[in-house]
Amino acid sequence: MWLILLGALCLLSSTLAMPLEAGGMGKQHWELVQNYLKRYYFHDSKTRVKINFEDKLKEMQKFFGLPVTGILSSHVTEIMQKPRCGVPDVLEYSLFPGRPKWTSNVITYRVVSYTRDLPQSIVDQLLAKAFNIWSSEIPLHFKRVHWGKADIMISFARRDHGDSFPFDGPGKTLAHAFAPGDGIGGDAHFDEDEDWTDGSSSGMNFLYTATHELGHSLGLSHSSDPNSIMYPTYEDRDSKNFRLSQDDIKGIQELYGNVDNLYHFK
Ligand SMILES: [Zn+2]
Ligand SMILES: [Zn+2]
Repeated sequence: MWLILLGALCLLSSTLAMPLEAGGMGKQHWELVQNYLKRYYFHDSKTRVKINFEDKLKEMQKFFGLPVTGILSSHVTEIMQKPRCGVPDVLEYSLFPGRPKWTSNVITYRVVSYTRDLPQSIVDQLLAKAFNIWSSEIPLHFKRVHWGKADIMISFARRDHGDSFPFDGPGKTLAHAFAPGDGIGGDAHFDEDEDWTDGSSSGMNFLYTATHELGHSLGLSHSSDPNSIMYPTYEDRDSKNFRLSQDDIKGIQELYGNVDNLYHFK
């Protein structure tokens, strides 16, 4: 009997108490906040320890450059409702152990499946452009292959798609990618339930999203600099003058060196 009761208490302690600050917030809304913090700010979802909601909220506020109060504001909940990348905002997350990077300077990629929102030739062009945006700053070359296993396998998929990170329908999580490594390492997945666009109509801009995801495929985690392409939420950007920020360039060159330094691999 005690054992059963203890088990029940452990379960209770792993859920979040609704704090006073949430007063006036509906239960459903509060669940959204909890899920957001658990998903993007919890270092190990497998350990059953009490989550300190206030600390997680402070981490999130710090990441987004907001006043670190530990109290929910409308600005915080507004950010939580924005479409974003599915990779968490904590460096210690298991997708990026030990800052992995590619060790060869020729990286292959393959487009395994396409979206129905754009012609295949446009997807190919935008991906080539996204790879070029990165390769113009680092001594890496990207080579497209049409069959077999490539370092970076690119696909569009909906809901459950064979990894442990199912997509969630339109909005919220748009895409995710895995840090460099064998197997699924480097692969980039895009949620087919989004409305992808080349910028000529409304929807999610595929070039921006692909450039962000390929940043993960190369070994970059999220940046808290709002001008960075590695910022976790989806932002409307100027599509004509779209380029990497200084922060992105600094990050990627820390891993691979710069283009003038072809033979210098750290
Ligand atoms: Zn991301
Ligand atoms: Zn996936």
